[in-house]
Amino acid sequence: MVEIRIHGRGGQGGVTLAKIIATARFLEGDSVQAFGLYAAERSGAPIQAFCRYSDEPIQNRNLIYEPDHVVVLDPTLIGRAVSDGLKRGGWIVLNSPEEPASFRSKFPDFRLATVDATAIAKQHGLGTRSLPIVNTALSGAVGRAIGIELDQVIAAFGELGFKGGNEIAAAQAWDEVRMDQKLLSPPEETRAEAAAEAPPLPSFLEGGRDLLPGIRTGQWAVQQPKRQQQVAPCNHVCPAGNDVRAFLQALAAERLDEALAILLATSPLPGVCGRVCPAPCMENCNRIAFDGAVNVRDLERYAADHGQCELESAEPRSERIAVVGSGPAGLTAAYHLARFGYRVTLFEAADEIGGLLRTGIPGYRLPDDVVDREVGRILDLGVRTRTDARIDRPELLRLAGEHEAVLVATGLQELQSLRLGMAEADAVMQGLDFLERSSRGEMRVDGEIVIVVGGGNTALDAARSALRLGAEQVTIVYRRTRLEMPAIPEEIDQGIEEGVEIEFLTQPIAIRSNGAGPGEKHYHLSCRQMELGAADESGRRRPVEVEGSDFELACDRVILALGQSPDLAVFPEGTEVREERQLLGLLETPVYAIGDLATRDGTVAGAIGSGRRAALHIHETLSGELLGEPSGRDARRPVDVWSDHVVQPEALRMHLFERVPPAHGGHKMPWERISNFDEVHTGLVDPGEARRCLSCGGCNECDRCVTYCPEGVLKRVGHEFVFDYSFCKGCGVCAAECPRDVIFMSHL
Ligand SMILES: Cc1cc2nc3c(=O)[nH]c(=O)nc-3n(C[C@H](O)[C@H](O)[C@H](O)COP(=O)(O)OP(=O)(O)OC[C@H]3O[C@@H](n4cnc5c(N)ncnc54)[C@H](O)[C@@H]3O)c2cc1C
Repeated sequence: MVEIRIHGRGGQGGVTLAKIIATARFLEGDSVQAFGLYAAERSGAPIQAFCRYSDEPIQNRNLIYEPDHVVVLDPTLIGRAVSDGLKRGGWIVLNSPEEPASFRSKFPDFRLATVDATAIAKQHGLGTRSLPIVNTALSGAVGRAIGIELDQVIAAFGELGFKGGNEIAAAQAWDEVRMDQKLLSPPEETRAEAAAEAPPLPSFLEGGRDLLPGIRTGQWAVQQPKRQQQVAPCNHVCPAGNDVRAFLQALAAERLDEALAILLATSPLPGVCGRVCPAPCMENCNRIAFDGAVNVRDLERYAADHGQCELESAEPRSERIAVVGSGPAGLTAAYHLARFGYRVTLFEAADEIGGLLRTGIPGYRLPDDVVDREVGRILDLGVRTRTDARIDRPELLRLAGEHEAVLVATGLQELQSLRLGMAEADAVMQGLDFLERSSRGEMRVDGEIVIVVGGGNTALDAARSALRLGAEQVTIVYRRTRLEMPAIPEEIDQGIEEGVEIEFLTQPIAIRSNGAGPGEKHYHLSCRQMELGAADESGRRRPVEVEGSDFELACDRVILALGQSPDLAVFPEGTEVREERQLLGLLETPVYAIGDLATRDGTVAGAIGSGRRAALHIHETLSGELLGEPSGRDARRPVDVWSDHVVQPEALRMHLFERVPPAHGGHKMPWERISNFDEVHTGLVDPGEARRCLSCGGCNECDRCVTYCPEGVLKRVGHEFVFDYSFCKGCGVCAAECPRDVIFMSHL
């Protein structure tokens, strides 16, 4: 980039000289700028003009404070201000009849060129006798000094419409310019002495004529731009506590490993959540009403499946911690505690680690190898496991005696049932048993008519698994409507696509055997029609029986999926179960209840968040160490204000974003799916969808503020944005141009 400052007087054509030089370079393919600095100055008042050119795009629009070269149009302006900020060795091109040597002592550190542009202009009738226009003559002299060919200068005249004597004046100046390239270069200390002895510069108010006032316009400002980081709605609602915005931004820049590292900072199970999370982040995405939510779930899966990350752990510590139950809550707590350096042992009643990730959620939604990979990563941290180890009350007390802390993450073990009568024992089974046996390959229902009772994930998974296990017909019976079904909506859609039928507003009453004649079905399930009444304590409308509406459904098997509740028998009587805090009524050792057992949240992400919070709490309790920034605050990106405010769409400059429909991962066709337990959803083929993330409330260094700052007082240094408040007038353009509400105007 070459930057030139021109000193002249109003009416002499200084800005036009800047335009001539800029046009000459523009015609050679450079990016250019030419502009003047003056307001209401009368003709003859000192003004400055500027020109910059570069073979790269020019982003800044600020004044030129440290020019490469200076041009002076009027000999009366040849004063000390001419060399202000001028880079050593730069050209000073003066309109003067004198030799360069006569200015040498004034400007020892610069190359000097002089030309009598006034005489040339008069000779060729440019301007009037009292105000000759010297700019075109000077353009020839400047071109010769700084290396712009005369042809290029003349070509610029053509572009700008200058005719007549201008070309001759430029050519004459080109020939006549006198140049002195030898710098005096006095030793540094001599220059310092000279500077010290120099009389103080008169201030503008004291009548310094050749100085432009160095007025710090920032002093006039009544407001100043500041930067804040607010909370993105996705981060706010993520039950796992993930920094969703940050991992999406890393993915948007195709930094897959960084995206995975960001996820692993909070959750050890991104591959699991990337497949089965109901994704409240997507429901709350600010893009939802604009052109559809960012597909966060599939992007999390992409990061988990494609990123690589070496985990670091703290120095080993002596304290031992027992975790009872190895579902997502126990696994997450074990993971964080192991990374803090604790000696962690997982006690699990089943014969394998993973809880409902193994025994509940079927492989067509969550393949075993994904669970293996993520459980493996946790165990590689040195977490020890004891399977087939059901912990009862005495055992729990023993663990409390042997460990510095105990976490209980046993999930929901009490299954709800229905009294359906005599035939129940033969025909009715629990959904979780059905799913567990199915996951072990111990279940077939070939040719059967299967009825599943319930409306949650267990009901949908049991129904879809039954189809895969050979059922002839599968019907879900649910006592409310689809709107009230707690199952993940996509699961319901996919079940219907695969052929699952749903009888809404239907309540089973009793089951009876029909005597089992040849070709007849074995059982009949008596059902009653329901209608919706007033809302109950869950906020959903209560189903009310419709009198005289009973009907029967033939079936071979009834699967109950009516929900689960915690089994608190493991705790001493009188224990108060409070999530993530030390339980009351136990020994001195802190014992915590986490996951579904404590929260009944019913999601993997909720269990992850619960396990993580408890692990952090335990670490703070045992170590006395206060943990740093909450997740979602990127210390690399300093801001003036960390705000807890959650960014709403109204705060964003949505007009600056392009509408782009979301990318959805692929799905196998329904007929391909129902003969096996292979994964149905095939995921995204690339992470491009992440570029749709608006980065709500968080700077992603788009640099619009820098580009649009009319004063050029804002620059980015690495991840930091620096305002020069001495010159910022507080116009607010940067705040108005910030798409994501990071910059705001603060009143002084
Ligand atoms: C069929 C089904 C489908 C689901 N689908 C989804 C879904 O798509 N998305 C989603 O987010 N959530 C889903 N969920 C919910 C999710 O699986 C649970 O919310 C989550 O697994 C709870 O985690 P947890 O660690 O608290 O408990 P669990 O995963 O239930 O783990 C508890 C563990 O404790 C062990 N245990 C119990 N008692 C003892 C004891 N006394 N001693 C030792 N070990 C013990 C158990 O064997 C088990 O391994 C689904 C649940 C089911 C049942």
